[in-house]
Amino acid sequence: MIPKSHPRYRSLITRKRLADLSKTGIVSLEGLTAHGRGEAFDYLLGEETTTSALMAEKVAAALLLSAKHPVISVNGNTAALAAEEIADLQRSSGARVEVNLFHRTEKRIQAISRLLEEHGISLVKGEVSRYIPLDHDRGLCHYDGIHSADVVLVPLEDGDRAQALVSMGKKVISIDLNPLSRTSRVATVPVIDELTRALSNISGFCNSLGPKEAASLIHGIDGTGFIRDALEYIRRRLLDVLD
Ligand code: ATP
Repeated sequence: MIPKSHPRYRSLITRKRLADLSKTGIVSLEGLTAHGRGEAFDYLLGEETTTSALMAEKVAAALLLSAKHPVISVNGNTAALAAEEIADLQRSSGARVEVNLFHRTEKRIQAISRLLEEHGISLVKGEVSRYIPLDHDRGLCHYDGIHSADVVLVPLEDGDRAQALVSMGKKVISIDLNPLSRTSRVATVPVIDELTRALSNISGFCNSLGPKEAASLIHGIDGTGFIRDALEYIRRRLLDVLD
């Protein structure tokens, strides 16, 4: 039992959920360590959405709304932490949702798909093939999903795959608390924020943006600017801590 009065209650509950779901195979052991890296960066960012990240979330929503074929790629950690938020975003953006795993086994695909479907998410299903130019199973995806997408949202993605998607000509929206990760650095729109906060904000913008505003937001996107803002925000916070 984790007491509600604990100052890090939310973080402890999240860790417990991930640890529990690692026993079912939904979360991989590697996913647990990736979560730790995310938490460290959330500490540095003050555990709240920065003004710059909120702007990135607005641009991300505009990209999803303006896309012909938007797809949300979901891995084990994303499903474990944010199935409800993904369901909301599918409703508000009309994007397809595809389960796409780095540590891919049929058993994990089935367990994660079940969890997402229990939350009302409709999934791209059927055959997968190695459409993404990466060796081994990391390159597998669905023809009607990521292969045909013009915009792909990749929460908690690894840098190689994000880069490969960009090299296929896709616009990539990442959600990653690490502004220095290769994923953030190659993404068209790096959203440097915690997963559940980011997804809720993007859904909110999908519900409120009109087509004109969305069209104007997707011109001249400055991904590097969002990274610079995050690093500057961290730098200032660290200096303040010492004051
Ligand atoms: P890259 O390959 O992009 O350089 P990496 O090797 O860290 O980075 P992964 O470990 O595959 O890539 O990615 C996980 C990333 O997700 C980490 O950078 C971590 O900061 C981030 N992350 C983990 N949990 C969360 C979360 N809840 N919200 C947002 N980001 C998170």
